[in-house]
Amino acid sequence: MDNRCGWIALAGESPPRPRLERNLQADWLIIGGGITGLSAAHSLAAQFPDQRIVLLDRQRVAQGASARNSGFAVSHELPTASELLGTPGFNGYQVASRIGVAAGQELRRRIDELAIDCEFDDGGYHFAVHKPEHLRHAEAAIETLAAVGADARYLEGDALRSRLGSEFYARAIHCAGGNALLQPARYVRGLADSLPPSVKVFENSAVLDLQRSGGHWHARLEAGEVRATRVLGCVGAFVNRVGVRRSGTFPLELSASITRPLSEARWQSLFAERTWGVLSTLPGGATVRLLPGRRLLIRNTVEYRQADLDRAGLQRRQHEHVKGLQKRFPGLDARDLEYTWTGHLSGTRSGEPYFARVDQDFYAVSGCNGSGVARGTLWGRLLADMAIGSSSPLLSDVLGQANPGYLPPRPFFDVGAVARMAWEVRRARLER
Ligand SMILES: Cc1cc2nc3c(=O)[nH]c(=O)nc-3n(C[C@H](O)[C@H](O)[C@H](O)COP(=O)(O)OP(=O)(O)OC[C@H]3O[C@@H](n4cnc5c(N)ncnc54)[C@H](O)[C@@H]3O)c2cc1C
Repeated sequence: MDNRCGWIALAGESPPRPRLERNLQADWLIIGGGITGLSAAHSLAAQFPDQRIVLLDRQRVAQGASARNSGFAVSHELPTASELLGTPGFNGYQVASRIGVAAGQELRRRIDELAIDCEFDDGGYHFAVHKPEHLRHAEAAIETLAAVGADARYLEGDALRSRLGSEFYARAIHCAGGNALLQPARYVRGLADSLPPSVKVFENSAVLDLQRSGGHWHARLEAGEVRATRVLGCVGAFVNRVGVRRSGTFPLELSASITRPLSEARWQSLFAERTWGVLSTLPGGATVRLLPGRRLLIRNTVEYRQADLDRAGLQRRQHEHVKGLQKRFPGLDARDLEYTWTGHLSGTRSGEPYFARVDQDFYAVSGCNGSGVARGTLWGRLLADMAIGSSSPLLSDVLGQANPGYLPPRPFFDVGAVARMAWEVRRARLER
C-alpha cells in the first residue's frame, strides 16, 4: 500500500517548481514551504515588494504536515480542569484563546484576500467522547468557552446521535465562534500558488547546513548555496535540521485515512448532506470528520518514533483506522478506505511553542502541538514582524507563551517519550 495523502490527491498538485542548483543572494531566506513559511512569505512580499525573498523546501512545497493534517482550524481549545473559569489557570487560558482567536482571524483574512477555495466551514466542530467520564465539567467548560467569546453548547442522546449518525458518542460540546474546518491541502496549496513573483520558490532543495559568516547567513544545499541577510526557519517538526539545537520540540508521527465516497442509500440517510468534525478530549483519541462528498476521515494513531514507517507498519496503522471507523459506523471495512498516510507534527512538553530569535538575523518557530493550521498562519506573519523589529500586543502575547519546557537529553528522552505516548494511547483506547 502507498503512503498517499487523501487531501493532496483530492486537491490536485501544483505544477512542480525548480530545484535550486546554483548560488543565489537574497534579502530573506525562508526555510520550509508549509503554512508557516508560506504565510511569512506573503507578509514579507507585501511589506517589501522590492526585496529578494527565497523560499526553500526539501520536498514539494505545501505537501508536508500542512497538507496532511485533519483540517481543524483551532481558535478555542477545550479548557482543562485547571483552566476553568474561576481557577488560577484561567488567565493563561484567556491569553491562549486571545492568540487562538487572532490566529483564526488571520486564517480567514488570508483565505478571503487570496480567494482560496478550501472548503472552509466556520460552523465549528465537536469535542465528543464515548465514555462520559472523558468529558467531565462540561457545564463549567461551556461557561469558560463563553467567557472567551466562543459559542459552545452541550449535546447528548438523540440530538448527538442524529447529528453524527453514530451511536458511539455519549456526550459532546459543539464549539463555534471561531473554530472551523477546511481542506488542508487546498488551503496550503492556495497559499503557495498565490505567492507574488518576488518570492522565488525552490522544491526538492533541502538546507543541509546553515552558517553565519561575513555578516550573512549561508545555507548550503546539495547543488547550490543561498547567501541571505535574514533567515526564517519554518520547518515544523524538523527544526533541529536547520541548526536549532535546543528548541524543546520533538516530532510525533500520526496517521490518517479517508474513505471512498459513501454513496449507498444507508449512508445517504445517515449522513444526509451534512459535514462535521469531532475531536477527542484525550490526546491519544481519534479525530473523525464527515467530509463533503460523504467521505469519512479518521486519524487515530500518534507515536514518537525514530525510524520511518515501512509498508507493513502503515498497514497496521490502517487496521487501527478500520477498527476506529467500525466502532462508530458498523459495516465499513478496509475496502472502504481509499487513502492512508502519515505526517509529522512538532510537540512540546508544555504544549506551548518554540518561537524565538535563534541568533542574529535568524528566527524560528516550531511546536504547534497539533494546532498549527490557524496558529501557523499567524506565526508566519508574527515571525516576519519580529525579524523586522515590529512589535505588537499580539506578538508580546505569543512571546510570553513561548515556553516549550525542558526536554531531557537523548537517549533518556527517547525512552520516556515512547513510554508516555504509549500510555496516552492506552488511556484513550476506548476513544480510538
Ligand atoms: C496527521 C496530522 C493531523 C493534524 N491535524 C491538525 C489539525 O486538525 N489542526 C491543526 O491546526 N493542526 C493539525 N496538525 C498540525 C499541523 O499540520 C501543523 O501544525 C502545521 O502544518 C505546521 O505547519 P508548518 O508550516 O510549521 O510545518 P510543515 O507543514 O511541516 O512545513 C515544514 C516544511 O519544511 C520542510 N523542511 C523540513 N526540513 C527542511 C530543510 N532542511 N530544508 C528545506 N525544507 C525543509 C518540509 O519539507 C515541510 O514542507 C496535524 C498534523 C498531522 C501530521
